[in-house]
Amino acid sequence: FDPMLQKEMATRISLLRDLRLAIQENQLQLYYQPIVDRELRVTGYEALLRWKHPVLGMVKPDIFIPLAEHINLIPSFGIWVMRMACMQIKNWENDPVRSQWTVSVNVSARQLHDVDFVTCVETVLAETGANPQCLRLELTESMLHENLNLVIEKMQALRQKGVRFALDDFGTGYSSLSYLRQLPVEQLKIDRSFVHDIENKDDVAIIKMILALAASMDVEVVAEGVENDEQRRTLHGHGCQMFQGYFFGKPAPIEVYG
Ligand code: C2E
Ligand code: CA
Ligand code: CA
Repeated sequence: FDPMLQKEMATRISLLRDLRLAIQENQLQLYYQPIVDRELRVTGYEALLRWKHPVLGMVKPDIFIPLAEHINLIPSFGIWVMRMACMQIKNWENDPVRSQWTVSVNVSARQLHDVDFVTCVETVLAETGANPQCLRLELTESMLHENLNLVIEKMQALRQKGVRFALDDFGTGYSSLSYLRQLPVEQLKIDRSFVHDIENKDDVAIIKMILALAASMDVEVVAEGVENDEQRRTLHGHGCQMFQGYFFGKPAPIEVYG
């Protein structure tokens, strides 16, 4: 008998119970973080999910998304995020500047491997009337380890409608680079761990390699987790096209930015 373990389990069970109510109780919130270009102009936003728990306050996605996957809430959470993001795109449609912005949405492995994934995205696009060109789906390398051919088919089907793709946390996946050419991806996101230790020679080498690889494939690169001007300047000097991080803006409700 371990009282600590029991407490942990009790917390987990009550979190799971609360999580099931999150959508109907309007506790999910979508935060937005700007992605800027070399001239510091906003090119779009990444949508980041938050759970406003009535007692615990704001819960981070790293905590509740694995739980939601575990109890099969991801389909509904995923659709909720996609719908909110598309409504935001629709909202900006008539503004000359904002209509050019993309909204990047994180896709979970569960969601991507679902047989209905493509239909789901198409349905949300149709229902909201959002321009598919403004929607960018972020996948991670680890999602490409299983059923790669099927994943490529799904990506191609959506790409044909105009939807764009980014590879998130790039550089952390230890996967073969040969699959990259087969993917309709037009953006790589350098993982923030490489940006964080930018004084480290090995990390700079990796950053330079990713930028060279991306250039050879005609793919754009976003550096994530840029927290200070030194990091921005170093990345800029190596030719990085886009930046995201606390230095430019923290994730916040869209009213703060839009
Ligand atoms: P991610 O996709 O890599 O998102 C970027 C994370 O880095 C966000 O954490 C963001 O708040 C954080 N970040 C941004 N700039 C900085 C910075 O300058 N310094 C540092 N230290 N961190 C920065 P967040 O919002 O806690 O999200 C964590 C992860 O949860 C995301 O990582 C993503 O994998 C997942 N996630 C978020 N929203 C969703 C969603 O709607 N669906 C799914 N499936 N996953 C989501
Ligand atoms: Ca992401
Ligand atoms: Ca990332």
